[in-house]
Amino acid sequence: MAMAKIRLCVDQPLGAGQSVPLTEAQAHYLFGVMREGVGTQVLLFNGRDGEWLAEVTEAGKRKGALTCLEMTRTQSAPPDLWLLFAPVKKARTDFIVEKAVELGVSRLQPVLTDYTNSERFRRDKAEAHVREAAEQCGALILAEVEDAVPLDRLLAAWDPARRILWADEAGAGRNSAPAALLADAGPGPWAVLIGPEGGFSDAERDRLRTFDFVHPVALGPRILRAETAALAALTLWQAHRGDWR
Ligand code: SAH
Repeated sequence: MAMAKIRLCVDQPLGAGQSVPLTEAQAHYLFGVMREGVGTQVLLFNGRDGEWLAEVTEAGKRKGALTCLEMTRTQSAPPDLWLLFAPVKKARTDFIVEKAVELGVSRLQPVLTDYTNSERFRRDKAEAHVREAAEQCGALILAEVEDAVPLDRLLAAWDPARRILWADEAGAGRNSAPAALLADAGPGPWAVLIGPEGGFSDAERDRLRTFDFVHPVALGPRILRAETAALAALTLWQAHRGDWR
């Protein structure tokens, strides 16, 4: 029996004996690029029904189908962590999306801030990157991707039960260290907030400081690129409050 190596994200429900059609792109990848065919075993997940071992039962140039054999992992609830980030240049935003999925973020929320300088945020493209990253890293969930919203509007409607770990570059060397803050925090959902290349404006800083659910932290004495800051803050959260413990 061939080892199941390829892992695909699908939309259909998964269950014993369930037949799952492939998209044209998946059929091309599996049969054209990977040269697999009928009988090949593949792992499937859809973000809801766990992970399933499935076998190719139909292989065409542009289409194909699989049949679910057995469940290999049950669906589990991921840590409740969101990432709020100002979109930066395309390649760097793609990087943030990919790494956030690998680091177990369950929702990606782009925010428009005073100094956000990037082109339009493409939600459909980000969703495709989420699927690819989830296939590759073994995630069982698909992080939700939201449309970009102004930071102000997001804060006005914010559920105060979800604390915000705010990476504030102006507090570098002054604000509390995130490790200590997270180690002492009780259970509950969080979001990490990362600013754009231009940083946060003074007005934004004043506003953010008025909310009890916002916790400003410094990520060391050096100024990090937005994508580095996102990775660093998510890593700290996973180590202290998430599934790295
Ligand atoms: N242009 C700004 C830097 C922005 S860095 C300046 O020169 O001051 C982009 C984002 O990464 C920041 O808005 C912040 O969210 C985060 N960040 C970078 N370095 C940081 C640090 N040392 N501490 C906390 N947050 C940081």
